[in-house]
Amino acid sequence: ARTVLVTGCSSGIGLAVAVLLARDPQRRYLVLATMRDLSRRGPLEAAAGATLGDTLRVLQLDVTSDKSVTECLGNVPGGRVDVVVNNAGVGLVGPLESASGPQVQRVFDTNVFGVLRLAQALLPQMKRRRSGHIVVVSSVMGLQGVVFNDVYAASKFAVEGLCESLAVQLLQFNVFVSLVEPGPVNTEFEAKVLQEVEKSEFPETDPETLRYFREVYLPASRQVFLTFGQTPDIVAQAIADVIAAPRPPFRTPTNPLYSPLLALRFADPSGNLGVRTFQRLLFDLGPAFHLSLALLRCLTCRCCRRRVTPV
Ligand code: NAD
Repeated sequence: ARTVLVTGCSSGIGLAVAVLLARDPQRRYLVLATMRDLSRRGPLEAAAGATLGDTLRVLQLDVTSDKSVTECLGNVPGGRVDVVVNNAGVGLVGPLESASGPQVQRVFDTNVFGVLRLAQALLPQMKRRRSGHIVVVSSVMGLQGVVFNDVYAASKFAVEGLCESLAVQLLQFNVFVSLVEPGPVNTEFEAKVLQEVEKSEFPETDPETLRYFREVYLPASRQVFLTFGQTPDIVAQAIADVIAAPRPPFRTPTNPLYSPLLALRFADPSGNLGVRTFQRLLFDLGPAFHLSLALLRCLTCRCCRRRVTPV
């Protein structure tokens, strides 16, 4: 069996992918489901069921700590990791003027340096064996900037650059790099980000920007999650497919509904089309934007499809 180390398994996509791989009917994987805080292992262990202690083991790992990475890898049976799924990540939304140094640092330390730490720790053994797979849960925000997500998008863009560069060299060693690009996923992620927003008064931000953030962006974001939001299980399946592929793809978008927005970036090399389209969608169209999302949601929901599918 291939040993797969997954980060951030106490909730969301990490929990879902760890359990999905551990339950593989062909028993192809030994899953090392890691999390920063072991006191939060309850939901993972409940979902793991009989695989716990068999094809799934729980280990402590804080991706922001060199010491924790060294200790965790020291506890890996035989020291061997065949696949690493870099899933741990944190978000940050709000006007940039109010993002504090520690908040920005935390996003980069988790989303960027976390991936870097594990890659540096695992590359020597993977290269030596001439086999291995580094999977990173990036985001559509690693391909397309999104208003009021400046810092988070910057962290995911950084990860994209890191991986795109690394992938070229590693192919020489038969080691693969794969980026999985989810759109919005209905996990604790957004709730955690919004909790932060509710706590903050944004004293550094002018009233006009705050109005755009609270009255335009936040409701639109809610609609986007309702319309495009996927389940963590769908993303977990996409990750499992990437891991099982004999020649794993470099990029895997998980959400086809997002493709038209991503295409804007490549349709106009000046980048103006993307920036202006997003500005129009959000600030000029307003209610029409919400209406079009609601329509899209209606057209794509399962219940409609069931009704129009001929028997
Ligand atoms: P989530 O909040 O449920 O999961 C993130 C996990 O990372 C949590 O279990 C958290 O405890 C863990 N984590 C945070 N800091 C850590 C650290 N220092 N060390 C170890 N673990 C740490 O949210 P999710 O949606 O499952 O997010 C998983 C990944 O998917 C993230 O990288 C996120 O950026 C990405 N993503 C999420 C969405 C979305 O809309 N939810 C969209 C695109 C990409």
